[in-house]
Amino acid sequence: MTARSLSDIEYNYKLINERIAEAALKSGRKREDITFLAATKTVDADTINHAISLGLDHIGENKVQELLAKYDDYDLSKCSLQFIGHLQSNKVRQIVDKVDLIQSVDSVKLANEISKQSLKINKTMDVLVEVNIGREENKSGVMPEMLEDLLYQIAEMDGISVKGLMAIPPICDTSQKISKFFHNMNNLFIDISQKKIDNISMTILSMGMSADYYEAILEGANMIRVGSSLFGERNYNI
Ligand SMILES: *Cc1c(COP(=O)(O)O)cnc(C)c1O
Repeated sequence: MTARSLSDIEYNYKLINERIAEAALKSGRKREDITFLAATKTVDADTINHAISLGLDHIGENKVQELLAKYDDYDLSKCSLQFIGHLQSNKVRQIVDKVDLIQSVDSVKLANEISKQSLKINKTMDVLVEVNIGREENKSGVMPEMLEDLLYQIAEMDGISVKGLMAIPPICDTSQKISKFFHNMNNLFIDISQKKIDNISMTILSMGMSADYYEAILEGANMIRVGSSLFGERNYNI
């Protein structure tokens, strides 16, 4: 990392925080009500640690192998490490002792495995359930109409605790279209909260990335996951 790119990150970090504060205010909340998680795929640990030194306190990886490769080098003394990508059941064991939250639970099978592996190490793993809000084929996430049933099943499991919902809406060409998906997601979040399912807490609504986190906050997100706006365009070849 050059001094130039480190100062770019500092600039970006401040700018994103200002936009979060503005969107929070516009939606009747405060800056502190919104969690800024940095999506750190392809970013090296030194660069991530620089962002952490600026005050960043949540990071998320989306590949198990990459998380394991960087794990010893993250400075996690003041920062939460989360898993935000698609997770195969057979890899749960490798991360369950390392992350604070898994954002991408979308099946009974995956939830069962998280429960089993967490119990082995006497942990209760916090998770979000990922919803396929755009009903896209070949995309992760539970279909909206299956969400409640999945939550009831997870509620019966030990070693796993649902804290809210996560979504990655379809790519849209206008901010009106993407806002509609965020809006629907927030409605689902509110509906489910009102059902007050035992052992299920609906606290976190994780939605919004670099291109659309402002809109997501306006529609009710309280956690955003931002990568390229903070670290610059990703280079997958390194
Ligand atoms: C990469 C990633 C993000 C952030 O994407 P940007 O567009 O770079 O902000 C958010 N969520 C998940 C699950 C990701 O994998």
